[in-house]
Amino acid sequence: MKSDIIIVGAGPAGAYAAYRLAQLDLDVLLLEKERLPRYKSCGGGLTSKVFRFVSEFNLSNVIEDEITRVVFTHDLENPIKLDFAEPFTYMTMRNRFDYFLVNQAKKAGAKIKEETEVVNLELMEDKVQVYTAENNYTARYVIGADGVRSLVAQKLGLMNDLEYAIAYEKEIKAPYQVLESQRGTINLDYGIVHGGYSWIFPKKDHLSVGVGTFAKGVDLRESLEDYLVREKISDYEVFKTTGHPLPAGGTKRELTKERAILIGDAAGLVDPLSGEGIFYALKSADVASQILIDVIKSSESIKRYTDLVNQEILPEFRKAELIQKLFFSFSGLLHKLFIKEEWILKKLIEVIYGNDTYSDLYDNIENRVPLLKF
Ligand SMILES: Cc1cc2nc3c(=O)[nH]c(=O)nc-3n(C[C@H](O)[C@H](O)[C@H](O)COP(=O)(O)OP(=O)(O)OC[C@H]3O[C@@H](n4cnc5c(N)ncnc54)[C@H](O)[C@@H]3O)c2cc1C
Repeated sequence: MKSDIIIVGAGPAGAYAAYRLAQLDLDVLLLEKERLPRYKSCGGGLTSKVFRFVSEFNLSNVIEDEITRVVFTHDLENPIKLDFAEPFTYMTMRNRFDYFLVNQAKKAGAKIKEETEVVNLELMEDKVQVYTAENNYTARYVIGADGVRSLVAQKLGLMNDLEYAIAYEKEIKAPYQVLESQRGTINLDYGIVHGGYSWIFPKKDHLSVGVGTFAKGVDLRESLEDYLVREKISDYEVFKTTGHPLPAGGTKRELTKERAILIGDAAGLVDPLSGEGIFYALKSADVASQILIDVIKSSESIKRYTDLVNQEILPEFRKAELIQKLFFSFSGLLHKLFIKEEWILKKLIEVIYGNDTYSDLYDNIENRVPLLKF
């Protein structure tokens, strides 16, 4: 069977690329190793950016809560509560969100094969050969959307120097009063985990609670237990526990090779401060789809994709990376600054979740607090 494009991995990156390319009348085959819908280790925070980006979709059926309050703590001390008039982020469960996108791709005409793990691929002069345990498939181009441990990247010899954080998360059924008190609110703590942060995200009938760090040698299991105890969450039932790497975007890397292109986590596209990856999975899928159309129709170079990612995504990641280094090295000092200058934190939340960019934040701080010029 020959397709125009084979996409490996049906997370948000792969599913959205399949949707976009099928909409543009290409013959698209999406290969996913898991049975769908599948669980994915994730806080499931969808920022307003995601909503604006896929405004053609009605996501209301996959939304579990709308967030208008964030409680910031440092080592569980000195809470700063920020309230927003409008929801600045939305909670989902990834099995539902990702499956929604897969179904949009299917409706647009993409072919989906689940429980089909890609085990190898070969780039040839005029085609790509993709191998699974049972079959092999041929296409003109291949997209690697197979996540942070991308086999596609590995086979292409790309992303060898990818740095990542490790996150550890539990889905817990907590007592009713705890769930109710958490409605509409996310908690973020910098300090309880060395070199990282902890979160409580409310879902319809449970909480997603996690810890993540860039530091080596941190016992994340112990940190998460500690976090739950100190947040006074007890009598809960754990129904899923997962550990997963989280790539840190910010470094320029080659993201294409001959007839292949990497998107989403496979391309390392995660905000190094907030850990947001879903928006960048969608955005890179969109850019890659447009490039592939141009490559097919007007002999544009596939390498243009890396240039566009470097221009449109990396500059923001670079700024996020600088703030991340400050955050994780001086979290106590920064928390004291935020208590005095709450607007900085509010602005940061607006950047991470909403309408502003890290560049806006830098300009704002430079104008209002010249001593803190970056
Ligand atoms: C604990 C944790 C919390 C997070 N919280 C958030 C958050 O709140 N908000 C946010 O925006 N981001 C969050 N992220 C990041 C987000 O989960 C990722 O950035 C996002 O999933 C990237 O999407 P993707 O499609 O690139 O990859 P993935 O979602 O990882 O999808 C890759 C797909 O490829 C499939 N696959 C892999 N190998 C193969 C193969 N060989 N053959 C076929 N299929 C294959 C996998 O089964 C999977 O379905 C979090 C990450 C972690 C680990």
